Amino acid sequence: MGIPIIRTVAELRSIVAVWRRDGLKVAVVPTMGALHEGHLSLVRAALAKADRVIVTLFVNPMQFNSAADLVAYPRTEYDDAVKLAPLGADILYAPDAADVYPQGFATTVSVSAVSEGLCGAFRPGHFDGVATVVTKLFLQTGADLAFFGEKDFQQLHVVRRLVRDLDIPINIVACPTMREEDGLAMSSRNVRLSAEQRLAAPKLPEALSTSAERLSAGAPAELVLAEARQVILAAGYDEVEYLELRADHDLSPLRAADRPARLIVAAWLGGTRLIDNVRVPSSESAVRGFRAATAAA
Ligand code: AMP
Repeated sequence: MGIPIIRTVAELRSIVAVWRRDGLKVAVVPTMGALHEGHLSLVRAALAKADRVIVTLFVNPMQFNSAADLVAYPRTEYDDAVKLAPLGADILYAPDAADVYPQGFATTVSVSAVSEGLCGAFRPGHFDGVATVVTKLFLQTGADLAFFGEKDFQQLHVVRRLVRDLDIPINIVACPTMREEDGLAMSSRNVRLSAEQRLAAPKLPEALSTSAERLSAGAPAELVLAEARQVILAAGYDEVEYLELRADHDLSPLRAADRPARLIVAAWLGGTRLIDNVRVPSSESAVRGFRAATAAA
């Protein structure tokens, strides 16, 4: 049997009301469709933790800062529904843009601090769009749990912050990045890569993991990141938008891996912008250096 596709919030609410009456735990997995194994891993994680799972499919115009990117974004609703059916997700909620943003829509949810820098610096308005639509989806579904990928690490922080700040009663669950066999992070945008670009693409995660090892061994971020940029460009990438070491728990910029950290990158390969990140375990020597510096200050 196929997965039911729900278009309106009224219909969605009446279904969720019955689940709630029966005391069932509800999870939501927000997506923009063109589903791949990364998305499906979130759905499986949600099915393991909740009684009912709503997958949302909405290519959110408010979070695109480039009209060309919005137009080119893959839309494969039928295939998405086919992929979801065997997993056992309960509903595919795929509202129309005109219902999500009706005439006169005038509200923006804007999260400061964690939205600034990284993607926030290069995609003006992007996280306002994300925060606004995610808030709407949380309120519309009334879910107890929401599943997000670490692939979009800054987005995860933005969502966690808004849930805390607005007292939205939902638990955010983070899931690890799913990768292709050659290490490339799965992304709906990967289909845009030419055969040649696709071959070069895994050099990005390769550079990230090599750099993470060096940082964990105590190397200073400035040196490691400068060399990694060169490696990524030499591999055929056209531009490294940013490559930064940030603290895992609050995204603050770091000069060394003196606490659990993330190496976060955005880079252009031809006309495709790819983002990725890897965990950087804190290095003993960087921690010692940090302690010595703070003791001396
Ligand atoms: P998107 O459809 O790209 O907006 O992504 C929807 C959700 O899937 C977000 O929470 C993403 O972080 C997550 N996601 C996207 N790619 C991956 C991946 N390769 N591994 C795990 N989660 C992912």
